[in-house]
Formats: sequence, structure tokens, C-alpha cells
Amino acid sequence: MAQSSIEWTEMTWNLTTGCDKISAGCKFCYAEVMTKRLQAMGSPKYLDGFKIVKVHDSELHLPFTWKKPKVVFVNSMSDMFHKDIPLSFIQKVFDTMNQCSQHTFQVLTKRAELLVKYSDQLNWSKNIWMGVSVEDERVADRIEHLRNSGAAVKFLSLEPLIGPLSNLNLTGIDWVIVGGESGFKARPMNPEWVEEIQIQCKQQGVAFFFKQWGGKKKKLAGRELNGKTYDEMPVAA
Ligand code: SF4
Repeated sequence: MAQSSIEWTEMTWNLTTGCDKISAGCKFCYAEVMTKRLQAMGSPKYLDGFKIVKVHDSELHLPFTWKKPKVVFVNSMSDMFHKDIPLSFIQKVFDTMNQCSQHTFQVLTKRAELLVKYSDQLNWSKNIWMGVSVEDERVADRIEHLRNSGAAVKFLSLEPLIGPLSNLNLTGIDWVIVGGESGFKARPMNPEWVEEIQIQCKQQGVAFFFKQWGGKKKKLAGRELNGKTYDEMPVAA
């Protein structure tokens, strides 16, 4: 477990390591950079590097040891629905999440096809929020897969937003997070894309969370949209 600086969560719980790139949103993958750093530092979980996907049974019990209720981003260093992660392991993760109803677990994937394929074999307790990442229209079909999953709370992470999303169907979606890419080579996010998404959320009654503008100087750019901070959370929360 680790405290997180991500605005929409409290901490991270990483049960799997390693991944590979699947769409344009992965270009400057934070997990890849961090894995290389941790590998170089000799951190045991990361010694095999980013290209090898591994599961870590030793992490499964951790939520039972947290004394206070937590909001937890599950697998920030990988993708839970990567093809190399066995369904039997995902079921073990869900078993822990089902038993730890005092915590809220936020699971995010880009592998929405596997999410929907496995969905009926997973126990979707109310404390599991399931999200898909959508960086532009080319991968908007992930939203339909999420909608078809059994998750009680469904959310979209539109980050890094690298193109417009003008025709969002938010039926069955509880929460939308938007964020721009950060870092030296960050791809720009047009403010009009953000405004358009905020309006669509308002029109369709969906909670909107604006995480950051991003860019080379992320802190300086801040997270206000037209003079306002948007920190809405799902109603089901
Ligand atoms: S799916 Fe996530 S963890 Fe995997 S390469 Fe893409 S951004 Fe990185």
C-alpha cells in the first residue's frame, strides 16, 4: 500500500506488475517509468521489469490490515484485465474486496473486452467502482463494454485527454474524471474538449471531476475550469 497524490483517491494497492501498451493513451505510461525506477532501486516486486506481467499473492491480505476505511486505486502500476493475469487471480482480488466492505476500491482498465468477458464470474459488491480509460474517440467503445459489466458504480477516466469526446453516451455511467497529460513531452489538451465534456456530464446528470490541466508545469497549470474546481463524486458513493 502507498499513499497517493492522485486527486481522486487516497492510496494505491498494487497486486500485479508489468503491462504493455495498447493504445495512444499509453504513450508516456507512468507505470512504465516508475517500474524502471523501482527496478533500478532493487525493489523486490519490480525486479522483473515492466515487460513481464506478474501477480503478487503476498499483497492480497493487505486491505484487512488497514485500520480506517480507505479509498483505494487498485493496480496503478499495471492493468488488472491484462490477458496474462488469470481470471482465478482476479477472483481472489475480488474476494478480498468483497470481504473488505469498509473500503472503496477503484479499478481502472483499458482492457474493456476482458472486463466484460469476465464480468459474470466476478462478485460486484457495491464498494467496487469499475472504470475504463478513454483518451479519445478511437477507444470510446470501451464505454459500451463498461456499461455491459456488472459493476454497481461505473466511471470513466478521460486522461490523458488527447482528442475531443463530443458524443458521449453516459447512460449507466456514474462518474467522469478528466485530466490532461503531464510531463516534458505532454500532448496538449484543448480547453474546449474539457468544457464540452463538463456540459455533457451536466446535461446527463453525471458527476464530473476535473483532475488537472497537466502540461510541463502541472502544478502551475492547476485544476480550475473557468474559475471553478470540480470535485464531484458519484452519487452512489
Ligand atoms: S494500460 Fe496502463 S499500465 Fe498498461 S501500458 Fe497502458 S497506461 Fe501503462
